[in-house]
Amino acid sequence: MPKKAQTKKTKNTKYIFVVGGVMSGVGKGVASSSIAKILQGRGLSVTAVKIDPYVNVDAGTMNPTEHGECFVLKDGLETDQDMGNYERFLNIDIPGINYMTTGSVYQAVIAKERNLGYKGKNVEVVPDIPLEVISRIQKAGEGAGADVVLIEVGGTVGEYQNVLFLEAIRMMKTKNPQDIGVVMVSYLPVPGSIGEMKTKPTQTAVRMLNSAGVFANIIIARSPVGVDQKRKEKIATFCNVHAEDVISAPDVESIYDIPLNLEKDRLSDRLCEMLDLSCSKKSDLSEWKRFVSKSKNTKDTVEIAVIGKYFSSGDFVLSDVYISVLEAIKYSSYKLGLKPNITYLSSHDFADSKKLKELKKYDGVLVPGGFGKTGVDGKLKVIEYVRKNRIPYFGICYGMQLAVLEFAQNVVKKKDASTEEINPKAANLIVGVMDEQKEKIAKGDMGGSMRLGQYPAVLQKGSVVARAYKQTDILERHRHRYEVNPAYIMELENEGLIFSGKSPDGRLMETMELPTEVHPFFVGVQYHPELQARPLDPHPLFTAFIRASYESK
Ligand code: GLN
Repeated sequence: MPKKAQTKKTKNTKYIFVVGGVMSGVGKGVASSSIAKILQGRGLSVTAVKIDPYVNVDAGTMNPTEHGECFVLKDGLETDQDMGNYERFLNIDIPGINYMTTGSVYQAVIAKERNLGYKGKNVEVVPDIPLEVISRIQKAGEGAGADVVLIEVGGTVGEYQNVLFLEAIRMMKTKNPQDIGVVMVSYLPVPGSIGEMKTKPTQTAVRMLNSAGVFANIIIARSPVGVDQKRKEKIATFCNVHAEDVISAPDVESIYDIPLNLEKDRLSDRLCEMLDLSCSKKSDLSEWKRFVSKSKNTKDTVEIAVIGKYFSSGDFVLSDVYISVLEAIKYSSYKLGLKPNITYLSSHDFADSKKLKELKKYDGVLVPGGFGKTGVDGKLKVIEYVRKNRIPYFGICYGMQLAVLEFAQNVVKKKDASTEEINPKAANLIVGVMDEQKEKIAKGDMGGSMRLGQYPAVLQKGSVVARAYKQTDILERHRHRYEVNPAYIMELENEGLIFSGKSPDGRLMETMELPTEVHPFFVGVQYHPELQARPLDPHPLFTAFIRASYESK
């Protein structure tokens, strides 16, 4: 008998917007991830959306020293590092529809207009731009079958760039007030000269939000210390919320404490009541708590040096540029009961060979991804030093390409060996531009055009990498334009370098290593394993690197 057509039951998805008050950089992304996490802990299916107010169409064209890490999603979209926080906290893969910028929204609206998608009507900034924003948010919810979509609006209220996104919130809330919650993450300074927590900047921020027609239901009070009852009441009075909806979020030692901290003020209860969410009565964050407790009860330490070039911004050190790498190191270390002491070293400093001896202090050295010429000389010297001194080495993307180049220069003795990225005229281009990239580069098509997103690779049985993964078929995320030049593989392998992982058609070198008889751990990967490392599911290659580093102490 033919089955009866099933009527599709649509979920009553709820939407929680997170906006920022007072200033940026107070952990709105982590607060959003933490809210998503505690709702997941209530048995709800949760997804997260990030809105970046930039005109850039994606985060791929932004300089990391300005915008932090570029996080590549499984489907290849180049996004903001907060997407990485969401994936890590929620332990899910998030699709590209969940990330938008002003640029991508306008681009879609204009493309629709060019295709007569608006059927001759005037296309206007309001409502057409907010409507496109709303449609994407809804698609993200439908695609994930989510009970709750958490949407983080980048920047702070009161910026011109935010206005159309706030308008989207207002429009959604006017239509379905019962389905929309608004959380403001604000900052409450405790000026040293006064020694008292001040609420005025938050009051001003709330007023600015209100002037856009949007009212906060919850205020997350970020501050150096916890917020006392007196100030909660003051904020409640001036900011139009209940005192119990002012959630204390003091500075913490580890970002992974935040979900548990928010629950101390019963945040998930408040959100579930407010949005009438059918969730489990009790929160289950037991796995998360186990991870947090493991991270605090380590038996020993491991010293890891990360050699980057995007660390400095004026007088300040930015580690956010490599945030996924740093977090991946932590997860694997905790898994092994170790506390990682991670030192950021600038590759520029190693152009002076005298500095190299300092690398002896470290149990393992990692060179992450990178672009361009600057800092390369230092990285090559570091790689040569750790190869010769048998210090465990993990090279990611550029870190693999440069390891292959170093081997070609110093072991295979290829004079004038280089990468096409630095010196296209070199006689021996050990790393060359990928075929499909040549045309794009010639046309100047540089946005979202690298080899991006998840691809399969096949690992050689018994290799260091295959033993780490405990399997030979893997899927990893990529972001590169150059590849190891296949013309040199034989020469490199004859001298002992092993290309232990390849694309399924055997064309692209995805991993390289030295045999363990020669070096305790010398591994490079063309992809970015850090993008798939999760607190509750550490990445096996990072774990192998940390283990080898610890054992070679
Ligand atoms: N610059 C190199 C390339 O484009 C490496 C990229 C990276 O490290 N992400 O291939």
